[in-house]
Amino acid sequence: MKKIFYLFLCSALSLSCRKNNDPELPKLAEVTTKTIALDSDQNSSLMFQDNESPDVMTSDARRYNIAHVLRVRAVDEKNIEISNFAPIDIENATILATISNGTDATNKQVVKLIKISKIRAHGKQTIKYPFMEGTVLYLDTNNKVTDLSQYKGTGIDPAKISFDFTGDNPIILKLKKLAVLKWDIQYHDYDPNNDVTNNWAEDITAKDIRRYTGLMINMGTVFISADFKTEFLNERIVANDGTTVLTDAQKLKTYNDILNHSFFQCGVVTNVSGLGGGSTLGYANHVIRDYINVAGAGDVLSHEVGHCVGYGHSSNMTYPIKVNNVNTGISPVTIRVMQKLFNEKMFPVTLENYYKPADLK
Ligand SMILES: [Zn+2]
Repeated sequence: MKKIFYLFLCSALSLSCRKNNDPELPKLAEVTTKTIALDSDQNSSLMFQDNESPDVMTSDARRYNIAHVLRVRAVDEKNIEISNFAPIDIENATILATISNGTDATNKQVVKLIKISKIRAHGKQTIKYPFMEGTVLYLDTNNKVTDLSQYKGTGIDPAKISFDFTGDNPIILKLKKLAVLKWDIQYHDYDPNNDVTNNWAEDITAKDIRRYTGLMINMGTVFISADFKTEFLNERIVANDGTTVLTDAQKLKTYNDILNHSFFQCGVVTNVSGLGGGSTLGYANHVIRDYINVAGAGDVLSHEVGHCVGYGHSSNMTYPIKVNNVNTGISPVTIRVMQKLFNEKMFPVTLENYYKPADLK
């Protein structure tokens, strides 16, 4: 039916239709991207709530990449899951789908699959692909019309589709900048047997994870900032022997090691302020609370990341070293940059937009 209609339309409006490559496709004004809202109990559920099982909250299914805190993934050929791993609402996002055609890896279409007027903080929902039951016509990123009718019956092989989000409001623009980081993030109970002799909290709670999701976004914002890069590369950084000063090239490598760190498995510690090394990252209760408005939290935040990229306590990639009575190292740099970013209101997650103010008391 649709094709007959479009053919008729094309003969009536032949001038505008000829602009499209395919004469059977309609003009752009007739293709609208479907908009959904995931902003209430009626249209979405919530992750990381107090009644959720710790096994679910720490499961592989909840592993996400910092580039995709608004994460879309194919559940099967016909359904996608949309999840917001940020503790803040995200508004006016467009979900882009990249579809591989056939065996040629370079033959890809990118379409504007769906718009989300609002997804609430930690909201999650599984939906059918919009082309399964609605329009099969989509716009690509150049606003050219693409016909997805070939997938209407079969759906799409999950291995042949990937997703990203885009948008132009300030929150989305800040979240998109995080894409230069390689960080995968997963939350973890490092003390499943409740052993009181170690420094890990006996359990990681939903509240811990809610706060941590904001911490990772804001900490990433520090490291990707131009101020951090400039200040870090100008800082006197000392190697693990406690005396050798890193060259500019060595500092740049360490800086890139932070950005390219592939995985942070995040837990909560007690008795100490933090623990770090390799993919292990732990912060105490006061750190996962204070990061949102206290620049001094940058001390512990960066200390543990220093461990994660291979430095010990003789290097000022962890504890600062005094030079002419002035603290030097990653920690004072991070504290200074955090203060600047607070002053300039550059952090995505703030006391004002975090969705459960009681978490931060
Ligand atoms: Zn340490």
